[in-house]
Amino acid sequence: MNKNKLVFANWKMNLHSEDINTLVKGVLNGLNDISGVDIVLAPTFPYLGIVKLLTANSKIRLSAQNVFWEESGSYTGEVSPGMLLDVGCTWAMIGHSERRQHLLETNEMINKKVLSSTLKGLNIILCVGESFDQRRTKKTFASISDQLHRGLRGVGEEFLPQIVIGYEPIWVIGSGQAASLNDISSVHNFIFTEVESMFPTAESLPRIVYGGSVNTTNVEQIVDLDNVDGVLVGNASMDCDKFCDIVLKVVK
Ligand code: PEP
Repeated sequence: MNKNKLVFANWKMNLHSEDINTLVKGVLNGLNDISGVDIVLAPTFPYLGIVKLLTANSKIRLSAQNVFWEESGSYTGEVSPGMLLDVGCTWAMIGHSERRQHLLETNEMINKKVLSSTLKGLNIILCVGESFDQRRTKKTFASISDQLHRGLRGVGEEFLPQIVIGYEPIWVIGSGQAASLNDISSVHNFIFTEVESMFPTAESLPRIVYGGSVNTTNVEQIVDLDNVDGVLVGNASMDCDKFCDIVLKVVK
């Protein structure tokens, strides 16, 4: 199993070429020679090539924020796993709550993306999380369990090393206030046990990373928790100093 912690930057639909140029050069400079941590940057589709060029001689890896399940054909606007690999992108985010909400992605669509992406050789981060209402009505664990079972349906255990689970409570994303350490801990432990029971004979289980208002102040305590194998960072990942500080705090 890959024991490195993972720091995954989700830039969402932000940043143009000039900002990206400055940010990536700053990150490369700030994290020069860093080891023992996996760093993945997820720009929007048009900028994958630029980030690939900028990070060419580094250990930083590239992710798309979405992927389609078919390899080619009449699917206007979509991008296949093979196309991502072709441009040097080795990761894809699948099932982010913003896509579930605004693009009406279902667990069935997400499952098809998981199956075809892993089969093609991509690494994926499968995002799961509960809404505020689900938390309020004590349906957090049922909701997470449902997303895991339906999202990972039919996945062979040989693909698990390519999979990371991103736990993102929807109600704290972009809020500036992360979930409490108790809440993070209990859901991560739950995800670990759930995935272990789904794949009882697997040699290695997916890493589980936390996302939702991670910042330079809360990151150390979060990654110190059991079953937290890294962080998924939105807003703070677009600020060079903050992002470098987060990575350095994760690795130390
Ligand atoms: C995200 O949307 O994946 C995320 C983690 O955002 P933020 O860090 O801004 O809450």
